[in-house]
Amino acid sequence: MPLPIGHALAGLACAQVRPGFFFRNRWQDVFFFVFLANLPDADFLPGIILGHPNLYHHGIFHSVGAALAIAAAGGWFFYLKKQPFWSRAVAIFMVFSSHLLLDFFSWDFGAPFGIPLLWPFVNRYFIAARPIFINVIRSGRSDDFFISLFNRHNLAAAGREIMIMGGVLVAVVTVRCLLKKKRSLK
Ligand SMILES: [Zn+2]
Repeated sequence: MPLPIGHALAGLACAQVRPGFFFRNRWQDVFFFVFLANLPDADFLPGIILGHPNLYHHGIFHSVGAALAIAAAGGWFFYLKKQPFWSRAVAIFMVFSSHLLLDFFSWDFGAPFGIPLLWPFVNRYFIAARPIFINVIRSGRSDDFFISLFNRHNLAAAGREIMIMGGVLVAVVTVRCLLKKKRSLK
């Protein structure tokens, strides 16, 4: 799994595709994209409460089934706010799935390796043959879980995430600016 920084940059890149897509307030909109891109890692929370953060991590909340459920719930939420259901649900599905994609392309040295990507349609774990993101070293206990994230290995992981996902973000912003310029020239 990449760190929240890698997922946040993925969320920011998605937010730059259509700024103001969910909320008129720019910061609220960006925050929602970043929240969605990190949401699957909320599966740490029940484990943290029970004293073992990794207990439910990389379970079914890291799957296309969870992405569909969250997309349906989110689409319904925006529909109640007088916004179109399908476009909002599809966008939520895509941003949530960006998390699954990044986790799929990460090293994982703890069984079961990878994520149950296609649950409930296929009941097995998937991981890329050539992962590009470094694994995150963390404690299996709640009391030192957060402090354990601050180490040299994870700093290198964060550096790689910033390089790759920062590059994606810059590319999205550049393309958007070029398209805007092209449209204003017409
Ligand atoms: Zn994750």
